[in-house]
Amino acid sequence: MTKPQEIATKAEFLAHAFALEQESVDRYEELADAMDTHNNPEVAGLFRKMADFGRKHAAEVERLAAGSELPVLEPWDFKWSDDEGPETGDYADIDYLMTPVQALQFALVNEKHSRDFYGRVAAHSPTRTVRQLADEFAQEEAEHVTLLERWIARQDPATAVQDDLDPPNIVD
Ligand code: ZN
Repeated sequence: MTKPQEIATKAEFLAHAFALEQESVDRYEELADAMDTHNNPEVAGLFRKMADFGRKHAAEVERLAAGSELPVLEPWDFKWSDDEGPETGDYADIDYLMTPVQALQFALVNEKHSRDFYGRVAAHSPTRTVRQLADEFAQEEAEHVTLLERWIARQDPATAVQDDLDPPNIVD
């Protein structure tokens, strides 16, 4: 597995970002479906909104690519810093028994991975324009993290099952 500091061109960065956002959209749609089966339209609605953020982000990435062909990434080409795409999480973790709090925490872990991925590229890419772009993306992901933390804080603590996920960071 290669490292963020090896993402040296804008096209390569955008290809990673595009793949990441598309994965994220798919995952949020699944989470939303899971919440629909829980009769939790509120959290389902949040996830559909997050999926829309991902779609807009992917469109923005295409705009930034400005007509230039992005390299098509095969899974083994991804220069993720860990074994999976930053925003994909573990697919097996999404099931229809997931409570809203678990689903929100799952999404939170993914958003943190995503933020950290962009943050590492922002800190370590050898190319200034890539670092700047990655920094903007990292800030947007940080906003998603904050949003999810607020939602988690609003949930009924009695339904919070924390298992092996990071405990929610409760903010006032
Ligand atoms: Zn995000």
